[in-house]
Amino acid sequence: MSTLIRCGICGGPMVIEKTQKPRYRCDASRGNGGTCDNSRTVMEDALRDAFTSAMLRYFDRPEVVAHLIEASKAELARAQRTVPDEKADAEKSLAETRGRIDNLVELASRGAAPTAVLEKIRELEALADKREHHLQELGAALEPLDAPRPEDVVARIRHLGVLFDKSPKDAREALKHLLDDGIQLYPLENGHYRARWTVRGGALFFVGTPRHKSSRA
Ligand SMILES: [Zn+2]
Repeated sequence: MSTLIRCGICGGPMVIEKTQKPRYRCDASRGNGGTCDNSRTVMEDALRDAFTSAMLRYFDRPEVVAHLIEASKAELARAQRTVPDEKADAEKSLAETRGRIDNLVELASRGAAPTAVLEKIRELEALADKREHHLQELGAALEPLDAPRPEDVVARIRHLGVLFDKSPKDAREALKHLLDDGIQLYPLENGHYRARWTVRGGALFFVGTPRHKSSRA
């Protein structure tokens, strides 16, 4: 997931032009990364306002929210079915790495160890750390998670609108996560753009709350 705003004509990224007022324009139309006929620009604040109000209207329908919650539950259930096997594999790999470290330490303790052996021990310890970390992440994925209530979902979307003013970067990251393929803008005959976007099934559990914690202190 790289770009949030895409050109509906060529599928490439639309990038901010720092003019008096920031506006989006298809990057390829400026000769970057290809060619595109779509040179129409759209003001960033106008796009943001139109998008946040469309988003609120979309999430204002209970049947839409109910459907998204069901999709999220299904995705979570799928993940929880596969994680126990992954976790067993990860435990095996970690035990194997630790066994190799023990052997080398044993070897080194019996006499003057060549630098290469010490080097190898350090390398394996780094690998063991990485495996340990992965194992913790898998453990976190298995923790039970409550399905969001419809009102929580709506509150989060409202919060996203506010976030755009406070921290546009965080808001963009949250949106990338929430949408399947960003926002595609199609130029219309009348000089406007039509925006298309789809909410990713399964995204609701994770908006704004990273599910895999990087460490659990
Ligand atoms: Zn384009």
